[in-house]
Amino acid sequence: MKIAIMGAMPEEIAPILKELGSYKTVEYAGNSYYEASYKGLELVIAYSKIGKVFSTLTAATMIEHFGAEKLLFSGVAGAVSPTLQVGDLVIATQLAQHDLDITAFGHPYGYVPEGSVLVDTDKELIALGKEVAVEMGKNVREGIIATGDQFVANEERKNWIADTFHADALEMEGGSVAVVCKALDVPFFILRAISDAADMDASFSFDTFLETSAQESATFVLKMLDKMSKY
Ligand code: SAH
Repeated sequence: MKIAIMGAMPEEIAPILKELGSYKTVEYAGNSYYEASYKGLELVIAYSKIGKVFSTLTAATMIEHFGAEKLLFSGVAGAVSPTLQVGDLVIATQLAQHDLDITAFGHPYGYVPEGSVLVDTDKELIALGKEVAVEMGKNVREGIIATGDQFVANEERKNWIADTFHADALEMEGGSVAVVCKALDVPFFILRAISDAADMDASFSFDTFLETSAQESATFVLKMLDKMSKY
């Protein structure tokens, strides 16, 4: 079984590469991909760079070029739900693109013809994630994640995203990765640890907590790999 592990920024995959110790680096399509084996699983690991376009390219490359059969995303996000704190983990049940807007034609936000506002994630991987959460004694939120090409540091925008998509968290890659994986029929899992509250202090909070939150998320994904290696 070949599994893709993806982040958007170097800090998001660094803890995983560190744990693996050794890996092979392959340069492809303007990015670095790291191949390794872990407890009998074949892995391809990469950070895409920030945003929907780069993450689309990386997810598609991991599947089409490197042959990944499942994809796990590990990273950080801004909290939309007021009950989420920095460091808390969110498992996406569904993802939306909050900046996709052809509402001038009477369509809802996040919708284009032949697409859907929400893309469902894989139920089996969520179940596995819940097992890991129980074993780690962690309270993990399951909810909708909203994605857009925008670092949200604005209470008004955040509240609009909450009202429009009923999202718990927001970030800049999950929604595009979801579209790719769904189209290519690859089960996927999107995990995010909160780095900020998407409010006026967001950039400061992000810079302060990026590494610790990225580590939280990566540790959880590594535990999921431990479980996947046993099946
Ligand atoms: N500090 C970086 C930019 C980070 S952009 C630089 O200067 O290069 C924020 C990244 O973290 C994105 O990959 C996104 O997925 C996630 N993220 C965390 N908080 C976010 C927020 N409030 N709004 C949007 N994305 C957020």
